Amino acid sequence: MNFIQTRGIDPAKPEKVTFSQAILDPIASYGGLYVPQKLPELGIPFLQKHQNSSYKELAKDMLDAFAIDIESSVIDEALSLYDRFDDAANPVPVVKVKENLYVSELYHGPTRAFKDMALQPFGVVLSSIAQKRDENYLILAATSGDTGPAALETFKNRANVKVACLYPDGGTSDVQRLQMVTEDAKNLKVIGIHGVFDDAQSALKRLLASDEFKKVLKEKHTKLSAANSVNFGRIIFQIIYHIHSYLELVRQGAITLGEKVYLNVPSGNFGNALGGYYAWKMGLPVAKIIISSNENNVLTRLIKTGKYDLNGYDVINTTSPAMDILKSSNVERVLFDLFGGQRTKELMFDLEEKNVYELTDDELAKLREYFDADFCTGEEGKRYIKETFEKDGYLMDPHTATCFKSFHTCSKQNIKSIIYSTAEWTKFAPVIANALTGEVDTCDIDALKSIAKTAQLKIPTMIQDLFGKKIAQKTVVDKQDIDKVILEFL
Ligand SMILES: *Cc1c(COP(=O)(O)O)cnc(C)c1O
Repeated sequence: MNFIQTRGIDPAKPEKVTFSQAILDPIASYGGLYVPQKLPELGIPFLQKHQNSSYKELAKDMLDAFAIDIESSVIDEALSLYDRFDDAANPVPVVKVKENLYVSELYHGPTRAFKDMALQPFGVVLSSIAQKRDENYLILAATSGDTGPAALETFKNRANVKVACLYPDGGTSDVQRLQMVTEDAKNLKVIGIHGVFDDAQSALKRLLASDEFKKVLKEKHTKLSAANSVNFGRIIFQIIYHIHSYLELVRQGAITLGEKVYLNVPSGNFGNALGGYYAWKMGLPVAKIIISSNENNVLTRLIKTGKYDLNGYDVINTTSPAMDILKSSNVERVLFDLFGGQRTKELMFDLEEKNVYELTDDELAKLREYFDADFCTGEEGKRYIKETFEKDGYLMDPHTATCFKSFHTCSKQNIKSIIYSTAEWTKFAPVIANALTGEVDTCDIDALKSIAKTAQLKIPTMIQDLFGKKIAQKTVVDKQDIDKVILEFL
C-alpha cells in the first residue's frame, strides 16, 4: 500500500510514498498530509471472521490488509505492548452504562490516557525503521499534558531515538507532570519552561527553523521526526479499536452483526474520530459519527454550518484540556476523502490565509451524511459526571463527559451508541472531585483520595507510586534558554 497526498503534488516531492516514508516525514506537498491510496475493503466477512478474535489477532489481520512495509515480526512486537494494559486478554473493555449507551475505555495503558493506544505500538515501529536505516531520530514534543507522558513512555530506552519534551511548568496537572519528570532514561530529556503551552510550541517551531540547530543535528547524524497525531503511524492503530468495540457489542449480545451504531468521539485533533471514519469506510456498520467538543467548539460549528471559522476565536482553557484545540489537523483527511485534493488544497489555503473556509451546501450535506456534532461546557460536563456516577454508578473523566451531552442531542435513532472514554478518572482528579462533592482547589493527591473514598475505588498503583518516585528530570528554564538545553542534551 502506498500513501498519497491531501493537497495535490508538488513536482519536487514524490507522488506516492511508502508507510515508512510517511511516518518519518509526515508533511506532504504544500503542507498537506499523507493518506492511504485506497483503504482496504474488509466488510462484513472480516467482522464475522473476527467475532471471537483477541484484540491482537484482530489488529494483526487489519494491519495485514494495509500491506505496509513493516516486517511481520516488528508488528508482532508492537502489538505485544497491549499485553501491558490492565487486562492483556482485553486491553479495551466496553462497558454498558445505561440503555443504548456503551463506553469503550481507551485508557487502560501505562499513562492512563488514550494516547497510549497508538503511541505504544508506534514507538516500536519508529525505532525499528530507524535501526533498519541506521539513522538516529530526535523527536521534539511540546505537550499540554497527555501526549508528553505517552511519548516518553513509548520511546524510553528505545534504540536510535531520542525525545526532548517541553511542558509549561505549572500548566499541567500534578499527575501529568510527575509522569514526565520521573521518567529516568538516557535518551529522554524533559524540560519545564516558565510560560504557557503556546511558549513551548513556539520554542519548538523556532528550533525547527534554526540554522544552528540544524547544523548540530547534522553533526550528530540525527534527523528530526514528529510523533504528533497527524502521523499516519499513529492513525493506523486508531482504526483497530473502533472495530474491536463494535465486535464487543456483538459478543455482549447488545447488537447483531451488521446492525448500525453511533460512534461518539470526544475530539481535539480529530485522530480518534478519523480512525472511526476509516473503520466505517472499510465496512464497519455505522449510522453516524458524533463529534463531541468542549467550549472550543469549532468542529461543532463546522459540522452544523459548513464554516470552519477561527476569526475572533482564541483558545479557551477548559476542564477538558486535551481538547483545547482550534486547528484540528486530521479533519483535512476527511475533506480529502470526500472532496478530493484540489478542493482540499483550496480549503486549507483559505484557512491558512484568511483563518476561515466555507463548504458549499452540497459539500456540507455530504459531510453531514457521516458526522453530527455538539459541544458541552465544563459546567454541563460536571453535571453529567455527577449524575452518571450517582444514577448509573459509572465514573468518567471530563473529556468523556462531553459525549454525554451529544448522546442526548444527536442520537436521533433508537440505536446503540459507543462513547469513547479517553482518560481515566485519575488524570483529571480535581475536576472530578469538584463535580462529585463540590470541593474546590484540591491538589491532585487529595482529590484522588477523595474520589477513591466517594466512589470506593482504589487509586491504581502506577498513579499512587508517582507521588513517591524520585524526580529524575529537574530542568526548568526560561524560554530563551530552551535551545541551549536541547543542544546540550544532544
Ligand atoms: C488527545 C486527547 C483527546 C483528543 O483526541 P483527538 O484524537 O486529538 O481528537 C481527547 N481526550 C483526551 C484525554 C486526550 O488525551
